[in-house]
Amino acid sequence: TEGRFTGKTVIVTGAGSGIGRATASRVAREGGRVIGLDISEERLKAFAAEHDGLDVTVITADVTKDDDLARVMEATGGKVDALANVAGIMDNMTPLHEVSDEIWNRVFAVNVTGLMKLSRAVIPLMLDAGRGSIVNIASEAGLRGSAAGAAYTASKHAVVGLTKSSAFMYGPSGLRVNAVAPGGVITNIEARFDSPLGEERVMGALAVSPPPTTADQLAASITFLLSDDGVNLNGVILPSDGGWSAV
Ligand code: NAD
Repeated sequence: TEGRFTGKTVIVTGAGSGIGRATASRVAREGGRVIGLDISEERLKAFAAEHDGLDVTVITADVTKDDDLARVMEATGGKVDALANVAGIMDNMTPLHEVSDEIWNRVFAVNVTGLMKLSRAVIPLMLDAGRGSIVNIASEAGLRGSAAGAAYTASKHAVVGLTKSSAFMYGPSGLRVNAVAPGGVITNIEARFDSPLGEERVMGALAVSPPPTTADQLAASITFLLSDDGVNLNGVILPSDGGWSAV
């Protein structure tokens, strides 16, 4: 039987854990050829073993490294139908005056620059094909100021900006570029609280958020936009948060 991703090559970043892993799994189970990348070789091995018999290629790669991204592009064989930019890291909940250069630079390198560079490599292939779908993972922190520290919040607002710019620029060429903004999801992501002010402010705001959901629930939203089910959607920032954004 035909799945939503039958015949399609789909790159998924952060495929070793959490939301990326659930997304890669769903794409593979719905007939797609998955190119899954992550910095964790161990997690990728476990993912590949669990999906034995499906069309899964895993590549240990860091989205902040140009050579690694070049290896990923090589593995595609020059055909990419869809890209899910899921890999990302949290900050330490620091307000702006307490942000360290280290946190700022690392969060932007992974969440923004890595996403930009892999997209930049993939988009010319999609333009040649006259079609393609990209889904970026933003966050509730891409929609409001109360969900994380300054660095993470700014990085996810940048993801929203890249999504909208690309949707606008490439829409007439047949590409769709959308984002999903998850609320709280139970994954392996690490959030530290290094600031009393940040902790007090963010914890207070989290008190009104719905309970955290599962990575599979996010994969449902992401694959909706990634597949042809999202045919009429471009430039959408879709909250997938159990209603948090209605609070
Ligand atoms: P996770 O930590 O479980 O999974 C993220 C994966 O990305 C990990 O396997 C990690 O090894 C990989 N990764 C990290 N840096 C990388 C890099 N430089 N190159 C390649 N891979 C890298 O976390 P998750 O919660 O599934 O997060 C996925 C995305 O969802 C992130 O962009 C995150 O910001 C976003 N998000 C998560 C939540 C949440 O509550 N979990 C909420 C909003 C947004």
